[in-house]
Amino acid sequence: MSEHFDLVVLGAGSAGIAMAIRAARHGAKVAVVEAGALGGTCVNVGCVPKKAMWLAAELAEAQRVAHEVGFDIQPGALRWPDFVARRSAYIDNIHASYRKRFDELNIELVGGYGRFVAPRRIAVGARELDAEHVLVATGAHSRRETVAGGELGIDSSGFFELRACPRRVAIVGSGYIAVELAGVLRALGAGVTLVARGDRLLRGFDHEIGDALAASMRERGIELSFARPILKVEREADGYALHLADGAVERGFDELIWATGRDPNTRGFGLDVAGVALDARGFIATDEYQNTNAANVYAVGDVTGRIALTPVAVAASRRLADRVFGGKPESKLDYANVPTTVFAHPPIGTVGLSEEAARQQYGDAVRVHRARFRPMLTALAGGEERTLMKLVCVGDDERVVGIHLIGTAADEILQGFAVALKMGARKADLDATVAIHPTSAEELVLM
Ligand code: NDP
Repeated sequence: MSEHFDLVVLGAGSAGIAMAIRAARHGAKVAVVEAGALGGTCVNVGCVPKKAMWLAAELAEAQRVAHEVGFDIQPGALRWPDFVARRSAYIDNIHASYRKRFDELNIELVGGYGRFVAPRRIAVGARELDAEHVLVATGAHSRRETVAGGELGIDSSGFFELRACPRRVAIVGSGYIAVELAGVLRALGAGVTLVARGDRLLRGFDHEIGDALAASMRERGIELSFARPILKVEREADGYALHLADGAVERGFDELIWATGRDPNTRGFGLDVAGVALDARGFIATDEYQNTNAANVYAVGDVTGRIALTPVAVAASRRLADRVFGGKPESKLDYANVPTTVFAHPPIGTVGLSEEAARQQYGDAVRVHRARFRPMLTALAGGEERTLMKLVCVGDDERVVGIHLIGTAADEILQGFAVALKMGARKADLDATVAIHPTSAEELVLM
């Protein structure tokens, strides 16, 4: 016999949990189907443990700076397993808080893999759940290169299983995950080589930001190897060997990390039974309201191929729940001007159009303002690394269409300025704001 729910959610990641909670607050009877841990990629093998590792890496760098400016300390190595225990305890607390909210709102967590057995009927083991509405929020998984030996090494999930710092690691890729893990591992003591098939880091970001990151990474001793597609990987006695398209072989890596993008989880749970269509790239096709082509079946998050960021998934899900269960028929997420941070070393904060994209769209109407400076602590320690801040403006009234930051605290500085951009700020609005001195952020109102 089947059981009836107003909403069945497939996947308890950022998107699924946000929709379930908001829908239940609107009075819906909700079931969430999940085979793994609550919180999905972000909580378990993404943003949260990554930020913990980034914070540890920041402390490692801070020790070196402290030594440099006169503290009588010798920078020490991280007791990795102890830190992982703290990281895990932090994540356990998040799981517990989700479970508590589920209990409070009578959201039923159904353990196991769900699959469509009819357009809005989901089987989980022996149970069958009938749903008025279904949200597919099944996320994505890392993609590996389809070269010989592509199965060797680990991906970002494997990184979180490490219990010691590798001695010498190769990271394949040049996107978010590649540069973040490279920075963390280097700061914690590993020798790091990043191997990219393209000729720059963070393709799609403002070029000067990618170039500044490359300079900072090299400064920290990370080897960057561009335009070097991989033909084959082998496991040799002294570690992994990467055979590159130019004939060179890079060898002697005791760890190999693939950071070559992610594919959506769309297989094995009967999307075809539900009649849900995929787009040309294999993601679930959705309209601006998160509707799939199948009636009352929605998709949110990484499985849709929209901006793959937790806060985007959460925001889209909450608006969807408000639309379907909260009496707000026009509710949807505006995907324009989403701010993002790359937790590289140093961090990057960016919102809006890159200079290149702005020039393509607005031609000569683009005006760029820049500040390049050494943050005070870097200068005190005798370091050379410079922070770069860019404002990309358009038109006679210089509407700000892009803000791009790389440097200490860029991750924290951006959020407020993203509000200004979203509100349509002009350069004159920034000029009219009195600076907070002495900070890095003040440079954004002093250009
Ligand atoms: P990205 O899209 O950022 O980067 C993928 C990288 O893989 C690119 O450098 C790409 O190179 C490379 N690549 C793809 N295919 C191959 C191949 N066959 N051989 C060699 N290189 C290849 O994806 P990530 O997996 O790093 O991250 C996934 C998403 O997760 C991000 O886009 C982001 O939305 C999110 N994320 C967000 C974070 C944050 O908010 N701080 C942190 C981590 C992830 P090329 O440029 O040449 O295509």
